[in-house]
Amino acid sequence: MAGPDVDRISSLVHQLLVELGEDPAREGLAKTPERVAKALAFLTDGYRADRKAVINQAVFTQDTSSMVIVKDIELYSLCEHHMLPFFGRCHIAYIPDGKVFGVSKLARLVDMYARRLQLQERLTEQVSRVVMDEIGAKGVGVMIEARHLCMMMRGVEKQNSTMVTSSVLGVFRDNLATREEFLTLVGKR
Ligand SMILES: [Zn+2]
Repeated sequence: MAGPDVDRISSLVHQLLVELGEDPAREGLAKTPERVAKALAFLTDGYRADRKAVINQAVFTQDTSSMVIVKDIELYSLCEHHMLPFFGRCHIAYIPDGKVFGVSKLARLVDMYARRLQLQERLTEQVSRVVMDEIGAKGVGVMIEARHLCMMMRGVEKQNSTMVTSSVLGVFRDNLATREEFLTLVGKR
């Protein structure tokens, strides 16, 4: 998919600066509309990413049914209500059924879903679903801990609050011991 029209977004940002009471002609802002447009294009490139290309054959056959866990994947996204960043960490665990991911691919998948306007809850679900579907895992657990600038900089101004969301599928949902193991491994028990 083609990227967004950077020229068109630049002119919208130019107009936005005027509406905010700024002078877009002053030196410091001269290139701001173009920079903002490019930054937004990058931060939303998850819309245009091809899931199969992201995974790019980094799924390997492996005869194991032990829990695989990748902790502390850095996460940066934009909340869809305010278009302000939320950021934190994502932990992913799964129990394979003959197939595993190359480790770096999980981080790429997180980026792919994070780089769009998001709700933390939906992002958590999407990551668990894609892991489940792409390798036919027996179960998946995903936890995201994130801080939202829309809460920290405005509104209720809860500077220290972290939002935690989790999504469990398959055996992580059905089996209490598996879910407990996941929570222990991510340090939540
Ligand atoms: Zn928000």
